[in-house]
Amino acid sequence: MAIERTFSIIKPDATARNITGAVNALIEQAGLRIVAQKRIQMTRGQAETFYAVHSARPFFGELVDFMVSGPVVVQVLEGEGAIAKYRDVMGATDPSKAAEGTIRKVHAKSIGENTVHGSDAAETAAIEIAQFFSGNEIVG
Ligand code: ATP
Ligand code: MG
Repeated sequence: MAIERTFSIIKPDATARNITGAVNALIEQAGLRIVAQKRIQMTRGQAETFYAVHSARPFFGELVDFMVSGPVVVQVLEGEGAIAKYRDVMGATDPSKAAEGTIRKVHAKSIGENTVHGSDAAETAAIEIAQFFSGNEIVG
């Protein structure tokens, strides 16, 4: 399998609880390498653009409100099959359905406040990385 890069967000419920290091430990234990990382306060515009695919969903307003409710840590993760691997490490969107040992099973509070985001495909990974990082900020 090829070396890939995926985009990750450690969401405001995790920065609020000071568990970004615990999340990063699970990422690194899975063999993924954090090749870029920064803590930012997302603007409403950035959050709306980022989750535009969900703009017609009933939870969209709540989702944007949550993503701007506190700082987030945006990251680029690199590794063998990184996109699918990180989805596995995160676990299901709803933490009550997530597998044992996954980030969401261990740390997420609810389907809305679910601790992490990870890209779902190569195309979205490239778009999402480019929304938050310039090339010289990613050091593999
Ligand atoms: P993400 O895109 O954040 O990695 P995901 O791909 O597992 O998560 P999506 O279906 O893309 O899940 O939903 C995006 C985000 O919207 C979820 O992570 C969650 O924060 C929020 N969300 C999804 N479904 C609901 C819901 N029913 N109620 C509230 N929030 C939801
Ligand atoms: Mg998604």
